[in-house]
Parts: sequence; C-alpha cells; structure tokens
Amino acid sequence: MNFTVAIVGRPNVGKSRLFNRLAGKRISIVHDMPGVTRDIISRDLDDGYTLLDTGGMGLLEGMSDTPGKIVNAVEGQIEFSIDAADLILFVVDGREGLMALDKQMAERLRRTDKRVMLVVNKVDTESTAIDGKEFFRYGFGEPYLVSAEHGRGITPLRKAVLALR
Ligand code: GDP
Ligand code: MG
Repeated sequence: MNFTVAIVGRPNVGKSRLFNRLAGKRISIVHDMPGVTRDIISRDLDDGYTLLDTGGMGLLEGMSDTPGKIVNAVEGQIEFSIDAADLILFVVDGREGLMALDKQMAERLRRTDKRVMLVVNKVDTESTAIDGKEFFRYGFGEPYLVSAEHGRGITPLRKAVLALR
C-alpha cells in the first residue's frame, strides 16, 4: 500500500496551494473563496507517496455556507483523513493565529494514533509576525513554517514527509 499523506485544515488556510506546491503542478483548484474545492483530490507523487487534498468535502460553494455546515464538512474531512492517511498535514493560517475551528480540529487530531505535522502557512517573509509558541502549545511538535504561495519553507517540509514515508 502506498504511503498516504492528507492535507487537512479549515477553509481558506491554503490547503490547495500547499497541495499544488508539494505536487509540483497546478491540479488542485485554488480560489479566493473558501470551500471551492469540492472533492478529494488525490495524486501519486514522484516522491513516492499519495497526496490528498481533502478540503472540499461536503462543502457547498462560497461564503454563504452556514457555520454549522462548514463545521460538519471539516469534521468529515478529519475523520476521512484519519482513516485514509498515514500522515496528516494539519494546516493553519499563521497570520490569523488559531481560530475556534482550528482548535476543534487540533483536539480531534490529538486523539488519533496517526502522525500529525502542524504546518503554519502564509508565513510569506522572514518578518511575518507569528506567535510560534502558540502553535507549539498545540502538541504536534515543532511547527513547519511555510508559504505555499511563495514556496518558503517547502523544502524542509518535503524532507520531513519523505523521512516518514
Ligand atoms: P484552502 O481553502 O485551504 O484550500 O485554501 P486555498 O489554497 O484555496 O487558498 C486560500 C487563499 O489563501 C487564496 O486566496 C490563496 O491565494 C491564499 N494563500 C494560500 N497560501 C498562501 C500563502 O502562503 N501566503 C499568502 N499570503 N496567501 C496564501
Ligand atoms: Mg481548497
């Protein structure tokens, strides 16, 4: 069986951008509106693992979704990933800090035996202000600070994934 890596996180943290960055091609649909990726996108990478973008599960398009629907979709995404993946990349937005939905996801992810790596995205420059301690406190070890958009921090993340494969 292929080593499977799932990207999870609440809408708009940059899961699809990260997927494209790791996959090296633009396959996942990336839009400015949260929740536009409707289905699970899966790709077998040359790096020798299968990468899943689970962001669109059950979500209807756009911002008009009720918060309850988003929570359900995110919960579905997490349960699916816990079943399907060997490694979970839990993506949060470094500029926004941890929101209620992130905390909810973190709590669920802490209760799985699956490996979880915390990826703090949107750290676009050296000077992007983030509260590293806040993220460390979530108990997933040292967070990986990346910018999926600009490619910052992607090489160390890729190496860490390959080391677990
Ligand atoms: P998803 O809903 O988690 O799949 O998020 P997307 O990948 O669709 O990205 C949501 C928004 O965040 C888009 O407007 C992206 O351009 C933006 N975004 C994603 N990654 C980064 C990043 O590293 N830096 C910045 N500044 N914006 C990003
Ligand atoms: Mg997406």
